[in-house]
Amino acid sequence: MKKQQSKKRHRQVFLAAGCVVALVVFGCVCPPKSFRAVKQSREGRAMNDKVAVVYSKHYQINVGGLEKLHSFDIHKYAKIYLALNTNGLLRPEDVFVPDAVTKEQILLVHTPGFLASLKDSKTVARYLEAPIVAAAPAGLVDAAVLNAFRYATGGTILAGRLALKHGIAINLAGGYHHAKPNAGEGFNVYADMAIAIRALQKDGLIKRALIVDLDVHQGNGSAVIFAGDEAVFTFSMHEGDIYPIPKEKSDLDVELPAGTGDKEYLRQLAEHLPKVIEAARPDIIFLQAGCDTLTGDPLARLQMTTDGIVRRDAMVIDRCASQGIPVVMCLGGGYSEKAWRVQYDSVRRIIEKYGLTQRRPYRQRSPTVKEKLYTK
Ligand SMILES: [Zn+2]
Repeated sequence: MKKQQSKKRHRQVFLAAGCVVALVVFGCVCPPKSFRAVKQSREGRAMNDKVAVVYSKHYQINVGGLEKLHSFDIHKYAKIYLALNTNGLLRPEDVFVPDAVTKEQILLVHTPGFLASLKDSKTVARYLEAPIVAAAPAGLVDAAVLNAFRYATGGTILAGRLALKHGIAINLAGGYHHAKPNAGEGFNVYADMAIAIRALQKDGLIKRALIVDLDVHQGNGSAVIFAGDEAVFTFSMHEGDIYPIPKEKSDLDVELPAGTGDKEYLRQLAEHLPKVIEAARPDIIFLQAGCDTLTGDPLARLQMTTDGIVRRDAMVIDRCASQGIPVVMCLGGGYSEKAWRVQYDSVRRIIEKYGLTQRRPYRQRSPTVKEKLYTK
């Protein structure tokens, strides 16, 4: 009798485990409807004709377990998209869905040698700071990881075009400011903002650009790419005593000591931002809005609050809006569990201030079980 019960229990446990595995596999192969809706590249709708949001299902890196091997929350972008959608701020049909960046566009910034280096898993593992990637076949790394970065980079290029048309464009990814012409580093592969600037210049859409880099780490890649380039101004505000060491030279670097909080940070930004805009005379601004300045971030020691970061991003966006300068917001770093929520709050404020003509126009709903599983 006992034996039979134990057998039955085993079968139940086995069945339950099977169901969970099936759900996860099904979730990966067949994503929830809200994500399937942003799979194919297409035009969206700029909210209030002022705010365009760019996102793709392909931003999601799909290597089972890779997310556990790096402090980066791989589902950050998806969580923000889902929260905007379920809280009634963004319909899937509003979203502009990008194509992946092309090889020709990548070569506007990177060297052919860099492109060749991506065929070697060990090198990519170094760029991504994820040693496990070294053991994976190059084809798998390309399809599961590099492909996501190519879509995110395509998203920043598209956001650049949309900002010129509508004023404000937000790419729910990007800001890979450590990537250099001949190498990636610090989890950054393609220098998306630099590629976008070069692509817009090539098409004759802009002449001058400004990068306002507020990630807690210095934008060393952008500094190298645009060193000596009169048309592109690089401004980086970052913590002085952390990676990258040594630092590169941006057009303006503002180094902050560990422990800097909202008040001092915002005072410094308010002091430098107008001067930088005046010096750069940009046709477009790229805001790298990394939220690793948040207190408790595992990779840094600034002490900003969520409210401080929302006000920081608002300071840049509001100035661009009042001066009529097109602005692209890229999400950049942010590594704690709270990071996605901070950036969601920042994006929500932008949509509420500039994108909504009436009060919440869309239906709010709870995320489905499948959506929760997909973004976990
Ligand atoms: Zn960072």
